[in-house]
Amino acid sequence: MKLHFLFLPFVLALPLFAQTNSQLPQGFSIDNIDKSVNPCVDFYQYSCGNWLKKAEIPPDQSGWDSFTDLHERNEAIMRGILEKVSGDDATRDPINQKIGDFYSSCMDEKTVDAKGIEPVKSELDRVAAVKDKTELIGVIAHDHLIGTNSFFDFDSDADLHNAAMDIANLDQSGLSLPDRDYYIKDTPKMVEMRKHLVDYATKVFTLAGQPPQQAADSAHIVLRIETALANAAMDRTLRRDPKNIDHKMERDQARALAPNLYLDHYLEAVGSPSFSSLNVRNPEFFQKLNGILDSESLDALKVYSSWHVLRLSAPWLSEPFVQANFQYRRDLTGQAEIQPRWKRCVSATDDALGEALGQRYVELTFGADGKQRMLKMVVALEQALGEDIDGVTWMSPETKKQARIKLAAINNKIGYPDKWRDYSKLTIAQGDFLGNFLRANEFESKREVDKIEKPVDRAEWGMTPPTVNAYYNPSLNEIVFPAGILQPPFFDKEMDDAINFGGIGLVIGHELTHGFDDQGRQFDPQGNLRDWWTPGDAQEFKNRASCVANEYGSFVAVDDLKLNGKLTLGENTADNGGARISLMALHKEIAQDPTAKAAQKIDGYTTDQRFFLGFGRVWCQKRRPEYQRMLVSVDPHSPGKYRVDGVVENMPEFEQAWSCKAGQPMVGANACRVW
Ligand SMILES: [Zn+2]
Repeated sequence: MKLHFLFLPFVLALPLFAQTNSQLPQGFSIDNIDKSVNPCVDFYQYSCGNWLKKAEIPPDQSGWDSFTDLHERNEAIMRGILEKVSGDDATRDPINQKIGDFYSSCMDEKTVDAKGIEPVKSELDRVAAVKDKTELIGVIAHDHLIGTNSFFDFDSDADLHNAAMDIANLDQSGLSLPDRDYYIKDTPKMVEMRKHLVDYATKVFTLAGQPPQQAADSAHIVLRIETALANAAMDRTLRRDPKNIDHKMERDQARALAPNLYLDHYLEAVGSPSFSSLNVRNPEFFQKLNGILDSESLDALKVYSSWHVLRLSAPWLSEPFVQANFQYRRDLTGQAEIQPRWKRCVSATDDALGEALGQRYVELTFGADGKQRMLKMVVALEQALGEDIDGVTWMSPETKKQARIKLAAINNKIGYPDKWRDYSKLTIAQGDFLGNFLRANEFESKREVDKIEKPVDRAEWGMTPPTVNAYYNPSLNEIVFPAGILQPPFFDKEMDDAINFGGIGLVIGHELTHGFDDQGRQFDPQGNLRDWWTPGDAQEFKNRASCVANEYGSFVAVDDLKLNGKLTLGENTADNGGARISLMALHKEIAQDPTAKAAQKIDGYTTDQRFFLGFGRVWCQKRRPEYQRMLVSVDPHSPGKYRVDGVVENMPEFEQAWSCKAGQPMVGANACRVW
């Protein structure tokens, strides 16, 4: 099952150390508040107004917010670690050798530039040498291992009906643009985006040695095949319902679905362990892919395959490829300048060797005291959710009992893994950056494939320790908080609990609530897709969820573009539930200790007011319009403004805290409440 991130960690949006924003406080500060705004009219504007006046989107960014700010700080720490272990020191331990050589081979721009396209030549030759479509499948398998997403996806994941076991999964894939909508919609913006892809592919094919006309023809073949794949794909919103991607079948059935896929040949080439059944997440896609593999010529399929090899490598080849890739990013996200090389190389190292670099990162940054205070808050939030479940009026005692069992079974992970990933079999060499990059991808792909038909590793982490994010995993029924997010403004040791419950408390509540949102509620305490709801309670849930979907579906993200209320439903449900239970937990804590700092008025603000201000602070955000537009299509999260205003409109507690009156914008006339 896909993980439920706190926000979308989009690869195009890596931050830069920005002098422009250095005057802005990292944590909570009343200086961010715009007191000329009425909090009951627009609470986001009230809590972030002065921040918004001062914050600038750095030229090499597509947006700026708490996540990018913290990410940038973490990147500077990682850079320090990596620079220290770069070089020829023979006494380095194996971890430092790997991360040091990976990073320095990436930073060695001279060697990278001198090699031009040569490092990827053997991969392109492999595609060029293909003689028939059966042979092509073997090359696709190889390309998947080195990291392409050509045609379709093959991976391992927990069995939806036996979450203790990993099984094989086949899924739709094969696109270059961020979403199927980009190929299908005929709005001027989407037509323009398709042109950007064609321009980019033409440029890269030219750099790879094709004459201009041939390069342009090749680019159009890519667009044609990807458009066919997009038409075959299921849309993002439908895929949110796990029932729609639950199609376990015998291997024979999967083979019959798409004979042109030569499944047995593919599985052998990809090195899959043997299995008799698998989940085909979207069978219709494979039926249509079968037709595409039949109707397109071998030459066209080879053009498409070589494009995906080039697309994978372009950011890591010589300067002309890097520039072509950046221009395409700029067209998609509005990012004005390319990031400095060290930023790109830090990210690449985190991607490739995240648990090796992460080990060094937590040694420097994460103390045992942080973990203890987090654990205490997790327990407080779990108790609050339990009381919230007990208190809701629309659920029968029978379903409440089941919900309580699920809540009690939620596991938590804080900071970093107990057991670090072993990279000893991965070769990292100086002066061979693309080789390192492809070998690291292959190492990771094989690790994934090897999990098929084996018990799920419950200790595994889906994010690296420096990551500024958090997630709920329905298959493991667990909430996970990497060390990277346990810093101000989310978690601030210097701040009172009102601010921290508005920040990290709400994040914990958000992740817990995912276990009970429209998706999470379909999984049982063991992580199996099993209905534990009475039909009446399920209907009550759906009625309440559709109120949330309608509310957020009416919000305008950019220009005339509205949010997709159904795509963002799970996240909005989690934001609303998270806010409510975090405030409950704060009240309980203060009731136990009325002398606590958080119980007092500070800077003229009451406890509850500071809770909401802490919440608002976390979501202060600026985005370039191009980037915002893209996120509306692909991101299940609402923009910062609505993550704040959309929630407080639903909370009578907010109305009371700020003495708002009926009819004011932050007092929802038809307030929605699921949890
Ligand atoms: Zn979430």
